[in-house]
Amino acid sequence: MEFAFDEADAAFRRDLVDFLDRELADGWERSEFGLGSAVHTDFSRKFVRTLAGRGWLTPHWPERYGGGGQGAWQHFVLGEEMWKRGEPRGPQYMNVNWVGPSLIKYGTEEQKRTLLPPIARGEVFWCQGFSEPEAGTDLAALRTRAVRDGDGYLLNGQKIWTSYADGADHCFLLARTGTVADGRRGISVFLLPLDTPGVEVRPIDGFVGDHSFNEVFLKDVWVPRSRLLGEENKGWDIVRRTLAYERVGAPRYARAALVLDGLADWSRTRGLLHDPGVQEQFGEARALCEAARLLVYRVIDERAKDKEPSPRANQARAAMVQAERAVGDLALDVMGSEALAEGSRGDAQFRNSLGAGIAAGSYEVQLNLITRLILKLPKE
Ligand SMILES: Cc1cc2nc3c(=O)[nH]c(=O)nc-3n(C[C@H](O)[C@H](O)[C@H](O)COP(=O)(O)OP(=O)(O)OC[C@H]3O[C@@H](n4cnc5c(N)ncnc54)[C@H](O)[C@@H]3O)c2cc1C
Repeated sequence: MEFAFDEADAAFRRDLVDFLDRELADGWERSEFGLGSAVHTDFSRKFVRTLAGRGWLTPHWPERYGGGGQGAWQHFVLGEEMWKRGEPRGPQYMNVNWVGPSLIKYGTEEQKRTLLPPIARGEVFWCQGFSEPEAGTDLAALRTRAVRDGDGYLLNGQKIWTSYADGADHCFLLARTGTVADGRRGISVFLLPLDTPGVEVRPIDGFVGDHSFNEVFLKDVWVPRSRLLGEENKGWDIVRRTLAYERVGAPRYARAALVLDGLADWSRTRGLLHDPGVQEQFGEARALCEAARLLVYRVIDERAKDKEPSPRANQARAAMVQAERAVGDLALDVMGSEALAEGSRGDAQFRNSLGAGIAAGSYEVQLNLITRLILKLPKE
């Protein structure tokens, strides 16, 4: 059995690492920890165009929509190297990982022709308008309304925790086209340009450092019917697939493993690695990073074989959260208060691990889904 990447993917990774060493050299460390900060997003806007110019922004998309026609593995090699470096694509990683693939799967030909190429060229950012003040884990309780109005819909309501909405061009937005009693059956997906009259974005402070959280208010916002994705009231199928892409999108274990290496160097120079207890903690954290990597690779293998998303995405997501938390906790244990210094790797890792266990469906929710869909519990 050969577990290594094939030569083409390994060569791609080498080229990518050389490119990143050159492109990220100047001042990158300053913005590295501030995914969502103004300096990071400004850098990302230029960077993604350079990446697009080399065919490295959407290598896994079909060529007719501006992609490179490559496979799921190449996309993931790219993701690993980007995430390790603090995700220099900025919010663009969401377009590449789940916005684009959802449009490719459910969009009309016109939606694909108009919306995908600008993403592939690195010209636009999208954000995700799912959560609401009373609808997070229970997303099906969302209340933002979309009522038919002429050849379109009138939207009213509020979103919250909308990452990057303050700089985004479009929002992948969920709204209720049926009644609240319809639950999941009454939800539709809208592809909303954020400069539409009636949209107001208000930034909110969050615990994940510079990460840009926002509230999005919608007051009599009119969208044409051509901006409905898929069928009216059938948005939940799209949500399920979108969340599977999102949950196994950012290769979080890659960054956690790198931070772990840094922590080991830091501990070695202070003579801490002689302690068997510390060694054990490092061993456990490393094992969790490796387990997460392999569970994620099983999902990528499914994608490479064009299989439908499966509960393996929940398993892989839960494993990534465990890995990130183990490294964050270890940073606190070995570095003590130094790990809380703002901007330090320990601090960034700790905050990342908190966010990872909530975003895209909380850790507890992943465990519930694993119990039901994989372990088939409770037994009757
Ligand atoms: C870094 C980050 C980025 C985000 N970006 C976005 C974004 O761009 N767009 C967007 O729409 N949203 C975004 N979110 C919001 C995120 O999707 C929600 O926070 C998440 O779905 C949880 O919802 P909630 O905050 O309402 O918590 P709640 O649903 O109120 O959950 C609170 C706690 O209760 C637990 N819980 C709830 N129900 C159950 C259950 N049935 N079984 C066991 N435990 C349960 C949860 O696990 C959690 O620990 C982001 C969140 C974070 C942290």
